[in-house]
Amino acid sequence: MDYEPIRKVVDSLAVQPNLLDYGATCASFSWEGVRREFAGLPEGGGLNIAHEAVDRHAAGPLRQKLAIRWLGRDGTVLDLTFGDLREGSNRFANVLTSLGIGKGERVFALAGRIPELYLAALGTLKNVGVFCPLFSAFGPDPILQRLSRGDARVLVTTERQYAKKVAGLRDRLPLLQYILLTDVEEDPGEGVLSLPRLMGAASADFTIPPTDPEDRAILHFTSGTTGMPKGAVHVHNAILTHLVTGRYVLDFHPDDIFWCTADPGWVTGTSYGIVAPLAHGITSIIDEADFDAERWYRILQEQRVTVWYTAPTAIRMLMRAPEEQRRRFDLSALRLVHSVGEPLNPEAVLWGERVLGLPIHDNWWQTETGGIMIANYAALEIRPGSMGRPLPGIEAAILWRRDDGTVEEVTAPDVEGELALRPGWPSMFREYLHDEERYRKCFAGGWYITGDLARRDADGWFWFVGRADDIIKTAGHMVGPFEVESALMEHPAVAEAGVIGKPEPVIGEIVKAFVVVKAGHEPTEELRLEILGFGRSKLGSAVAPKEIAFIDNLPKTRSGKIMRRLLKARELGLPEGDTSTLEA
Ligand code: AMP
Repeated sequence: MDYEPIRKVVDSLAVQPNLLDYGATCASFSWEGVRREFAGLPEGGGLNIAHEAVDRHAAGPLRQKLAIRWLGRDGTVLDLTFGDLREGSNRFANVLTSLGIGKGERVFALAGRIPELYLAALGTLKNVGVFCPLFSAFGPDPILQRLSRGDARVLVTTERQYAKKVAGLRDRLPLLQYILLTDVEEDPGEGVLSLPRLMGAASADFTIPPTDPEDRAILHFTSGTTGMPKGAVHVHNAILTHLVTGRYVLDFHPDDIFWCTADPGWVTGTSYGIVAPLAHGITSIIDEADFDAERWYRILQEQRVTVWYTAPTAIRMLMRAPEEQRRRFDLSALRLVHSVGEPLNPEAVLWGERVLGLPIHDNWWQTETGGIMIANYAALEIRPGSMGRPLPGIEAAILWRRDDGTVEEVTAPDVEGELALRPGWPSMFREYLHDEERYRKCFAGGWYITGDLARRDADGWFWFVGRADDIIKTAGHMVGPFEVESALMEHPAVAEAGVIGKPEPVIGEIVKAFVVVKAGHEPTEELRLEILGFGRSKLGSAVAPKEIAFIDNLPKTRSGKIMRRLLKARELGLPEGDTSTLEA
């Protein structure tokens, strides 16, 4: 470990964290116990996410409590209480039933973070349908691919999105029966209907039909950093993971104001942008606009955000902005900062401590896991660069694959291998839609294999090494790009780096880095040589990049992950493959 651990003094924290004794909490934890915290549906006792996240609170003392404060791009503010959410989602559920859309049928959304999207998500869950949000910036090809693979019956979108991207696809989507436009008053016709009109005519009462915890609830196409997107399907029981992670990782307390910056097009934006905070009955901020350092600091200040969940890419962008900008804002309400989606460079953790006044808590999970699996916790020490330790109730391991394809668990510390989880946690994906074979291949020897490489230290902290597909094999060494990127980021002129293996006949691959320089620095030959030397001094010649190229921006997915696959394809002049999730 290169960096000193960041220790917490619990008595000095403003709020006593929910998880104080990790070992004892893990030892006494049971998912059955969590299940018992939910009373279930009033009729029949089944488990429905929307009931537990909204109706349960709306029926009690939280009815008037602010559930969502929506900040419009243009300055509009819309406050929705738990009571409002209940009514709005009931109306949407009634709209679906009036259109003959029933259990298990797929309702898609193609919209930015607009209020209707949240009502549609919750209303679909009430109707025991399957909700699938898409990134609004998708173009026609990825939209067609997902609507068609997902057997979409209903699409909620805006007039503009429809006209620009969907209208021309309709003859190729025979199952897509209804398009509900959020911003027209009259029905344009031919299955294209006005959502406000339908909602206005629908009843505000709805009885959730019996829902089995295993009923399908949410479909997410994974961000596809490595290949064709896969449709991971989650069930209502997933809310158990959202409740537990909200409690132990995000450390929700009743008066918290929570801001998850993720878009629901990415799983973080549903699990934590919708379900987890509502399940806890706390207030969430939803910002319609995209990243802007000034706007984000203002939101943290004005909304008195206490718990903030964001991603390394956003943190790195804030790190690029002048520190003086941050100092103009009062962030004294902020208590905890969390990050997910990509490895969080140790530099970023320390930057948080220095500039935000709080270290950043990294956590790890994936679309397939449905919720946070490995995390740093509010009361426990942070080892900068580590993803932390498994959630209570989660068993994680490092595996090696034998030549015959079977796996063995590595118990020795600090050994790199495949990161695996013991199946059975509630938010585990239940299938890849229409791809049983691919689903089956994710499991071996009683483990779910995540596709990431990691190591576990002697005390049980997990360290991310890389996506199995991104690993570079150079002169007999296995090099994780993250390690190289993090080292380069310590150079004062480096804002971001993306690292790939470039085939080379003698040593297999050479390490090549693409570097974005910070504002105020010029990408000169002199700087290039300096960064090469810096890399060698930090990493040694076996691991350090042999080539460095400057680049204006790294290609990233819409959820902010560096697309190393694409950097490599471009470098080698190979086909770019699926780029549907590439950020514009
Ligand atoms: P997605 O399903 O799109 O959310 O992508 C999941 C993948 O993102 C994981 O398998 C990891 O490769 C990466 N990832 C997510 N969180 C972290 C983290 N905290 N550290 C390192 N990699 C992460």
